[in-house]
Amino acid sequence: MNGAPGAGDFAGKRVLVTGGSRGIGRAVVLAFARAGADVAFCYRRDRAAAQEVMAAAQEFAGQVAGYQADVADPASVAALVAEVEAAHGAVEVLVNNAGAFPATPVIDMSFAEWDEVVRTNLYGVFSCCQAVLPGMIAGGGGAIVNIASIAGQRGSARHAHYAAAKGGVLAFTRSLAREVIEHNIRVNAVSPGRIATDLLLDVQTGAEYARWMADTPARRLGTPEEVADAVLYLASPASSYVVGATLAVNGGLLME
Ligand code: NDP
Repeated sequence: MNGAPGAGDFAGKRVLVTGGSRGIGRAVVLAFARAGADVAFCYRRDRAAAQEVMAAAQEFAGQVAGYQADVADPASVAALVAEVEAAHGAVEVLVNNAGAFPATPVIDMSFAEWDEVVRTNLYGVFSCCQAVLPGMIAGGGGAIVNIASIAGQRGSARHAHYAAAKGGVLAFTRSLAREVIEHNIRVNAVSPGRIATDLLLDVQTGAEYARWMADTPARRLGTPEEVADAVLYLASPASSYVVGATLAVNGGLLME
């Protein structure tokens, strides 16, 4: 997409974004709202942040509504999608963005932490896709964009659970893409590198940051808006022959 999508590019499209209250999800919500979409998003705990996103979206053509839900809990996902479908109609674009990124060496990692991280980052993607698919198929098609991570491609020390889950997201993306393209549903992934959000706050300065910049060819962190541009491209007709792809947004950190 050449620059920010204009008002009307997604006019009236019903979009669901998980984890839309902060960081990349917030930028995705606002980009779709700017392009005229009817956007529902979920957040887990931070209601004030969700309200701020709804207020920020008021200047745009699209409608934005936030819902509390926990993507790690399939019952919560089912309730979310039922509520969103009742209020907005069947979802036409799903962006699986919600994620959590705790740091623990494998040797110290509890099964409970492993379970929680995989539930959030991988099970959540599966359960959200499964919940929206009947409506999407009945509506004649749609687009699903899963936010993976460079960690899922090259691994990440102290984040083995996260990397395993994100690697799973990439394999799940390709598998579901093969299953549902016959229903005119395109499933793709965006794989961000290092993006300036709360998730990376603790490493945005200091020695680790300097090391990161040394091995990032672009020599800077990415912005949430740069990831949102990639998401909107994969959700738009501009990517109509892009199926099961992984779009890297990583400043050249990993080139394939
Ligand atoms: P943030 O931590 O800034 O925001 C996470 C968002 O997800 C919040 O809205 C949060 O809501 C929500 N969320 C977290 N857990 C759940 C849950 N169980 N159920 C519902 N919502 C939940 O993350 P980022 O914006 O940085 O990351 C977004 C995505 O991008 C994630 O999938 C992440 O793994 C991926 N990514 C990020 C990178 C980066 O450098 N930032 C790099 C590569 C991938 P609340 O605040 O209410 O908990």
